[in-house]
Amino acid sequence: MELEGLNAIKQLDFRKCMQCGECTGSCPVSTKSKLNPRRFMLETAYAVTPVQYMTMYPPINIQERNELWDCTTCRTCSHLCPRDVDPMEVLIGLRGLLIEEGRVPSTLGEALEGVYKYGNPWGLSRSKRSEWATDLKVKYASENEKAELLYFVGCAASYDSRAQDVAKVIVKNLNTLGIDFSILGNKETCCGNEVYSLGEKGLFEELRDNNLSLFEQYGVNRIITTSPHCFHAFRNRYGKNLETQHYTMTFADLIDKGKVKFAGKVEKTVTYQDPCFLGKHNNIYDEPRKIIESIPGVKFSELRRSRVRGVCCEGGGGRMWHDIPGKRLAETRVEEALDIGAEILAVACPFCLLTFDDAIKTTGNEDKIQVKDIMELVAEAL
Ligand code: SF4
Ligand code: SF4
Repeated sequence: MELEGLNAIKQLDFRKCMQCGECTGSCPVSTKSKLNPRRFMLETAYAVTPVQYMTMYPPINIQERNELWDCTTCRTCSHLCPRDVDPMEVLIGLRGLLIEEGRVPSTLGEALEGVYKYGNPWGLSRSKRSEWATDLKVKYASENEKAELLYFVGCAASYDSRAQDVAKVIVKNLNTLGIDFSILGNKETCCGNEVYSLGEKGLFEELRDNNLSLFEQYGVNRIITTSPHCFHAFRNRYGKNLETQHYTMTFADLIDKGKVKFAGKVEKTVTYQDPCFLGKHNNIYDEPRKIIESIPGVKFSELRRSRVRGVCCEGGGGRMWHDIPGKRLAETRVEEALDIGAEILAVACPFCLLTFDDAIKTTGNEDKIQVKDIMELVAEAL
């Protein structure tokens, strides 16, 4: 179920929620935060159902519920809910109510303002968006140069120096395999996925409409994304039938068709972190593993908690700009990767890349394990 923020609250049949607590029990953030989706479901139900309930129970006072911002929108709760109620969408809707009142943590407010003014949550200049591609062989979409296949880079891979490495190897790998593609350059703007997750529906709709007209203007037929978050927005939140693939899907297809010939090896033990917006949101588990396992020399080792049981890196839902006290989930995941003997923690999402890069440093494990994007492993072996 994918409903739009507040609409989720209005349309939900709260009688379906049986207060089983599966959502709270499965929430990875509830171990370090007051976040309790089951309780939010109960209180929201009382707040939106007939008056007699409201005399028995006080209406929800969300103004004092700062833990709403702790949710990573990992979708574990909605995935496991036995009544298909979608508590994650309810939390997004409640965030929307706080946004309307201007009650947003300052760092998240700055991220939203950055998107509004500059098209990216870091508030960096639009004119610097494609600087990472300066020396690369890449085509820019224009009125005369239609982008039949668009590589949508995304904000993190456009501006963050570590994530830019991934954009560069994606371009390099596509060129090596002879794939014809274009980028939007400085005309690209935020996909809005995190804006939606923060409950800022108005800004999300503006970004969606801008992006859809850009795609139309430049004749875009197919899209490849760096980030599972952009992929999810285009595929599920734009309300259009856009032909969109995360790069793992594109490269797994190319491997299936025998178009990828590896010349080198990566002789390492590699594990893989399922990004929430590929796995739990879109059920894409096999494609990334297919790519990793096809690289000569790799010994693939699965994390004990993986696929539907995988654990979020804590970078989604706006949490890249809103830290909370306690051990970070990414730090726990680094330890779990070390426990199975992994030398490389492979990722397929810029947020995972950045949270794990940081977690490897904060846990003092720089000499034992590295985080690499799957495209970096492919580039090493092509
Ligand atoms: S939302 Fe679903 S998982 Fe959570 S308490 Fe209700 S029925 Fe259970
Ligand atoms: S989406 Fe994830 S972090 Fe948010 S309440 Fe559900 S399980 Fe917890």
